[in-house]
Amino acid sequence: MDYDKNNVFAKIIRKEIPCELVDENKNALAFKDIAPKAPVHILIIPKKEYINFNDFISNASEEEIIDFYALINKIIIKLDLTNKGYRIITNSGKDGNQDVPHLHFHLLAGKNLGFMIS
Ligand code: 5GP
Repeated sequence: MDYDKNNVFAKIIRKEIPCELVDENKNALAFKDIAPKAPVHILIIPKKEYINFNDFISNASEEEIIDFYALINKIIIKLDLTNKGYRIITNSGKDGNQDVPHLHFHLLAGKNLGFMIS
């Protein structure tokens, strides 16, 4: 599957559409989900073109991978979530019900999130 340059997160990276920015570093961007499923619902994405987790880990540089995880961790610490708890999810492909074909991790928190899969 080829990367779709017109997916909505590619447009956010190119600043063609706005987002509620949470934080960023050289290789990753974090912004609020437009339809939050919890009081905290932040999406973290790499700035380069990766379709999903497997594409990212297989093809990204070590610096990109470190920056991606470092940004997630920075947000967790900034929002004081280490004690309260949180959930990180990434959906991939058809069975994962991935809607936007640019790798994104969902960081969810701010209430008891219930069981993982209902
Ligand atoms: P997926 O189902 O691919 O794992 O999740 C895609 C997520 O992107 C959904 O939670 C959806 O609400 C969010 N989303 C879709 N379009 C936009 C948008 O234009 N802006 C933002 N901030 N989030 C979006």
